[in-house]
Amino acid sequence: MSLLSCASGNSVYRGYDYYTCDKVIMVEDIGNGQYKGYVEGSADKPYEVFIDINHPRKSHCNCPHADGKRIVCKHQVALFFKMFPEEAEKYRAELESYYDYEEKRHEDEERAIAKFLTKCKKSELEDIIWQMLFDGPEWQYDRFIRDYLDM
Ligand SMILES: [Zn+2]
Repeated sequence: MSLLSCASGNSVYRGYDYYTCDKVIMVEDIGNGQYKGYVEGSADKPYEVFIDINHPRKSHCNCPHADGKRIVCKHQVALFFKMFPEEAEKYRAELESYYDYEEKRHEDEERAIAKFLTKCKKSELEDIIWQMLFDGPEWQYDRFIRDYLDM
């Protein structure tokens, strides 16, 4: 199992950010798939980070999130990307294709909504709006009152 798959999606995302912002101060290859180094974080002193790519759960970091726990944090991910820039590139490409996909899906949805609304009868639109106002979040109801009824 790879180090990245042991980390949460959020840690990988933040770790990639740390890597691209040059927060990895130093990293040393100590053999057997093990690396240690320092990564800048929110504390004054950089965090001491150790990763073992063959046994990701043996990796550690002295940040509050991961210290003493078997958690792969963003600092470990940043160190991993620093050692394996091709993995960072792969992750960047994945992110990009995900965003492209989401953007396209959103555009398709908006087109479908526009098409649907132009075909709707006034009474159908009224039903839909009533339903949205009562089933939707409270802020939506409040905003409708404020924006359209001036109350
Ligand atoms: Zn950490």
